[in-house]
Amino acid sequence: MKDQILRGTAGGGAIRFSAITGRTLVQRAREIHNTSPVASAALGRTLLAASLLGNDLKTEGNSLTIRINGGGPLGSIVVVSDENGWVRGYCQRPLLDLPLRPDGKLDVAAAVGVGGSLTVIKDIGLKDPYVGQIELRSGEIAEDITAYLAESEQVPSACALGVLVDRDYSIKRAGGYIISLLPGVKEETITQLEICIARAKPVTTYLDQGYTLREMMEQVLSGFDCNFLSEEEVGYRCTCSRERVREVLLSLGREELERLHREQDTAEVNCQFCDEVYRFTYDDIEDLLKEANA
Ligand SMILES: [Zn+2]
Repeated sequence: MKDQILRGTAGGGAIRFSAITGRTLVQRAREIHNTSPVASAALGRTLLAASLLGNDLKTEGNSLTIRINGGGPLGSIVVVSDENGWVRGYCQRPLLDLPLRPDGKLDVAAAVGVGGSLTVIKDIGLKDPYVGQIELRSGEIAEDITAYLAESEQVPSACALGVLVDRDYSIKRAGGYIISLLPGVKEETITQLEICIARAKPVTTYLDQGYTLREMMEQVLSGFDCNFLSEEEVGYRCTCSRERVREVLLSLGREELERLHREQDTAEVNCQFCDEVYRFTYDDIEDLLKEANA
């Protein structure tokens, strides 16, 4: 099953929405980072949110980063999306194991922490990227994304994100949606939408019952006419390359490279976002040193 994002409008254009099914991309993150169930949920929800928000950018070369520093035992979460919603990410302590909540759910808020910050960085090709930061509200991520959209982008929205982890720790379901109100929307539309959101089941419940994204959004937005605009494939994709890693090594400067050259036969650089390992031999480091001296 390919992951995809569905976009559309409802309520005669007063409402816009995007919805994602992302089991494969969250599973890929789990395989790369060997995430525990609670880490799969926290990182997975952030990946889904970044994909939904990044898919909005559309201009080639643009990117969107979500950084969550909640102060919890999971450490920071960093996720990057390209302009079409293809994502990559990591969290600092992916092996973190926490007891389930009393209701049997994964305790994402306890892992992420509350009281830290959520930062969204949009690189849209300007000299300085756009940076929006809010205080983390719940640590459950969807509510925090809603708060970010309201405070930083002045867009009233509802966000739902869900990751269902199977008994063998693989990802069984993953998905989410963001529903936003356009400016000038009528009061009765807002009220009707609020009732819809309050009645909606968790995303993973719809997906587990075999609903497609279209069917899920028709259920969530029941009473509104949904107009579906596009369906696009998304997934987990890293953009690292040997050339980029070389540039990073070069940027360490001459002294650091000299030290590497003196102390190590080879240097191994692990990509933070995927399982790629770049090896630099003694001769490679010598070449880098020559380049740094040139
Ligand atoms: Zn990589």
